Amino acid sequence: MASAQQSTCDAVVVGAGFAGLYALHSLRDRLGLSVRAFEAGGGLGGTWYFNRYPGARSDSDSYIYCYTFDRKLLQEWEWSERYPEQPEILRYLNHVADRLDLRRDIQLDTRVTEATFDEAGKAWVIRTDKGDVVTARYLVSAVGCLSSSNQPAFKGAETFLGRSYHTGHWPHGGVDFTARRVGVIGTGASAVQAIPVIAQQAKHLTVFQRTANYCVPARNGKVDPEKVRARKADYERIIEAIRNSYFGFEYDFIMQSVLEAPPEERERVFTEMWDTGGFAFWLANYQDMLFTREANDVCAEFLHNKIRETVKDPAVARMLTPAGYPYGTKRQPLDTNYFETFNKPNVELVDVNETPIEEITPRGVRTSTREHELDILVFATGFDALTGPLNRIAIRGRGGRLLSDKWRDGPHSYLGVAVAGFPNLFTITGPGSPSVLSNMPVSIEQHVDWITGCIGHMRRNRFATVEATGDAEERWTEHVAEVANSTLMPTANSWYVGANIPGKPRVFMPYLGGVGPYRQKCNEIAANGYEGFALAP
Ligand SMILES: Cc1cc2nc3c(=O)[nH]c(=O)nc-3n(C[C@H](O)[C@H](O)[C@H](O)COP(=O)(O)OP(=O)(O)OC[C@H]3O[C@@H](n4cnc5c(N)ncnc54)[C@H](O)[C@@H]3O)c2cc1C
Repeated sequence: MASAQQSTCDAVVVGAGFAGLYALHSLRDRLGLSVRAFEAGGGLGGTWYFNRYPGARSDSDSYIYCYTFDRKLLQEWEWSERYPEQPEILRYLNHVADRLDLRRDIQLDTRVTEATFDEAGKAWVIRTDKGDVVTARYLVSAVGCLSSSNQPAFKGAETFLGRSYHTGHWPHGGVDFTARRVGVIGTGASAVQAIPVIAQQAKHLTVFQRTANYCVPARNGKVDPEKVRARKADYERIIEAIRNSYFGFEYDFIMQSVLEAPPEERERVFTEMWDTGGFAFWLANYQDMLFTREANDVCAEFLHNKIRETVKDPAVARMLTPAGYPYGTKRQPLDTNYFETFNKPNVELVDVNETPIEEITPRGVRTSTREHELDILVFATGFDALTGPLNRIAIRGRGGRLLSDKWRDGPHSYLGVAVAGFPNLFTITGPGSPSVLSNMPVSIEQHVDWITGCIGHMRRNRFATVEATGDAEERWTEHVAEVANSTLMPTANSWYVGANIPGKPRVFMPYLGGVGPYRQKCNEIAANGYEGFALAP
């Protein structure tokens, strides 16, 4: 592995998760570029290297939570369950790295701290925390949308005498909860996966909830081998379907208003989706669910009833019943026995709206009414999503302008992949692209393929720089907001709008126009000679 040094290459890739691995392969092996990838973690895999908490798994079905660019890999790899567990995804990504011989160009344990565009040299000068200084024509960010964990600043946190962990930075050896009193702060998607597993082991589990969540059963399990065979034989169609779908899944909305469906009919449809499990209830529901509150309320009511049916104590059921925001406007958690877990005698729910956390003490967590004594405290408090990992790097474009300054009032980008004033910087699944509102491998592959095409075009035509125009960027940023504002999505206090991070500007960051239409738009832009971009020799 290269030691700290000054060097030059064609492209630097930041990050070695799904996106970084594929970007490295595509730029190096398709275009023949010299590429160096830097990864802050001690291993590759990104999300699946860091998020090792109990119950961690993908909520995307395994047959589509994978790369599709290599048809042989699709046929060879065997997933063991409907939703792959963290260790299996990590094994898969390591297998891909070995198969494509990627490791020799990845430097682990190295964080990119700065990147400055040298206008005279038309290249990026990239610095790392290990002292590397690399000059590269292209800078490809594969830093992930959910890689900068959010650790809320609780008074007294440093005084806690037990052990504390963040789900996004879980220790490699695991955590033994046997005979321990455990507290979990947060009830988002990670917490919903972890809580039922922790509750099985812990002596006592206290869950501190700010916002009740609309959970839907995952219905994980082994997949019938016949179904696996049928899917493998049908991959060409599946790939086409997910690439041109709205969310990167094999789901379509029901082209009818939920308000027009007869009550027995919609109960049957809801029940079918509920029984199928997975994202169907979220992404294949009646088309007006995310557009009008009246329609949304009908879907929400079905879920409210499920909670009441499952949770035995009516007071706890009430606390677990979401209120005050429309269904589907926060990341849909998929659960395995989440609501059932609150029927266990060793599990306690604390609503921190009623009894706020005042401080963390040496012995546990003190709310406005009492101290909860704990041996282990788990922060399931999510991430500074989308802009967080980019803003943590001092990226300086033309005139030395910092990206984090430019994005002070929210991200401005063209297609979520390029930023005016930052030539030759490509942001894979950046804000303003479908990113976290899609099955991400589909969006990652689309971005990497598009970036590879763009750099290929530059090299064939001897362009040294490509840069989004300010005009194209403004129009796209407005379009992203306009599409989001035509739905209910921005109305919730979600991480999609940055509401979980104090002081973060409230902007709906992902693009809601759909994976398929977005892909078409990107392809048209390329076919028209990179419309909205300035290309210069
Ligand atoms: C718990 C959890 C569950 C998820 N479930 C799903 C799911 O069901 N379906 C789905 O589609 N998506 C899911 N996601 C989103 C998931 O992040 C993506 O699917 C995918 O793994 C993203 O890959 P990536 O390479 O873009 O980013 P990441 O996997 O986040 O990798 C980015 C890498 O960049 C590195 N990095 C960041 N900044 C720097 C720097 N300055 N210098 C060096 N390295 C840096 C990070 O260390 C990280 O390893 C989930 C995310 C989480 C956290």
